[in-house]
Amino acid sequence: LWLDAPLAEGAEVPLSPAQTHYLVSVMRRGPGDAVALFNGRDGEWRARLATLDRKRGGTACLEVRMRPPHPEPGPWLLIAPVKRQALDLTVEKATELGAGRLLPVLTRRTNSQRVKTDRLRAIATEAAEQCGRLTVPEVAEPQPLPEVLADWPAGRRLLLLDETGGGRPLGHCLERADAADPVAFLVGPEGGFDNSELDAVRQLPFVQPVDLGPRILRAETAALAALAAWQVLAAG
Ligand code: SAM
Repeated sequence: LWLDAPLAEGAEVPLSPAQTHYLVSVMRRGPGDAVALFNGRDGEWRARLATLDRKRGGTACLEVRMRPPHPEPGPWLLIAPVKRQALDLTVEKATELGAGRLLPVLTRRTNSQRVKTDRLRAIATEAAEQCGRLTVPEVAEPQPLPEVLADWPAGRRLLLLDETGGGRPLGHCLERADAADPVAFLVGPEGGFDNSELDAVRQLPFVQPVDLGPRILRAETAALAALAAWQVLAAG
């Protein structure tokens, strides 16, 4: 059950009539039954249906119990904002494919500077709920690419999706697609990166240019192809 509320061990969480209806009538849970909770921030929690008060408009109350280990987040995706529909699709599919963070980055040729992060966050939340993810990927505020790279976390490789022929095949760069090898993907905008921008990114020690084959993919296709490759390898 998705609860947009902080969860704490032993908390009593009252449910709305709609949530009670979902649990009792749709999921056929009764008092004492186990319920998996998540709120997109703290990973999954276990709870049990503590009380069910049919009189007061049919509301239930959950008693929150232990919290299983926090699942490792997946790869980060740095994407230069593309047109609205394509960006929505990218956020939804990247969530399903296990992306851990989504960072809209402003590059020299990015033409849609306006990114409605609230809408993207709602898309990510809905996608997480639909696919049964227990964490919702963070959608960061758009930032100029140089600023993001200047503050890059140690230990995380950045795989630059490079269609200009300067990269290694992606499969060779994802030897161990798992949490122990955190990666990020950087995808350019519809017009690609400009040459000096591309050179500057390629120089960085944590960057590896990678190639997704001989065809020029749309940015959203490239992003999802890379995440799907990671997901397939991470699934083992
Ligand atoms: N330079 C492209 C062109 O000539 O049309 C425009 C950029 S492409 C539409 C958008 C982004 O997708 C690129 O910046 C790159 O990050 C990624 N991309 C597309 N095809 C790719 C490929 N075959 N290998 C790696 N990355 C690719």
